[in-house]
Amino acid sequence: MQYPKPILDLISSYMKLPGIGKKTAVRMAFHTLTMKDKDIEEFSKALANLKKDLCPCSICHRINEHEVCNICSDKDRNESIICVVESDQDLMAMENTEQFFGHYHVLGGVISPMNGIGPNDINLRSLLERAKDPKVKEIILATNSTPEGEGTASFILRILQNTDIKVTRIAQGISFGSDLEFVDEMTLARALSARVEL
Ligand SMILES: [Zn+2]
Repeated sequence: MQYPKPILDLISSYMKLPGIGKKTAVRMAFHTLTMKDKDIEEFSKALANLKKDLCPCSICHRINEHEVCNICSDKDRNESIICVVESDQDLMAMENTEQFFGHYHVLGGVISPMNGIGPNDINLRSLLERAKDPKVKEIILATNSTPEGEGTASFILRILQNTDIKVTRIAQGISFGSDLEFVDEMTLARALSARVEL
């Protein structure tokens, strides 16, 4: 016995989300069925507009609604420091510490030879272009403490080590293998202020 097709379609859509197995997807689909028409409409509109209304910032690659994001265009922020993060979620984690007032660069991944991801597959070239700006004095490598995150940080360091830019790495208060996104704000703020020059 199969569920009706509209429910099956919704179940298989929910199962594409991370951490959602069949059982949860079934529960979510039947819950959706009990939602008010207005809420379902808003839900589907949010999904449909998600990609349409967003684009990567032309400078830092952060996903936002403008060609240049509100961080890159904020004149009050310190443009001499660029904090390099793996993802938009990591950028948000850093912003939530309320301790960083410089600019960002979102790599959109890490170098991972095992998964066939090389330096050209992440937003590295544009970082090196930005590093040529004499206004840039420090680059903070805030990639995650995973083997790939460390490898990517070392790769960037090797390229920048013969320049005048100070390259720093957030301190290792963050346990190995953890994702910045899930580190509490205090720990992340401490790791940021205790960053070390490489
Ligand atoms: Zn930006």
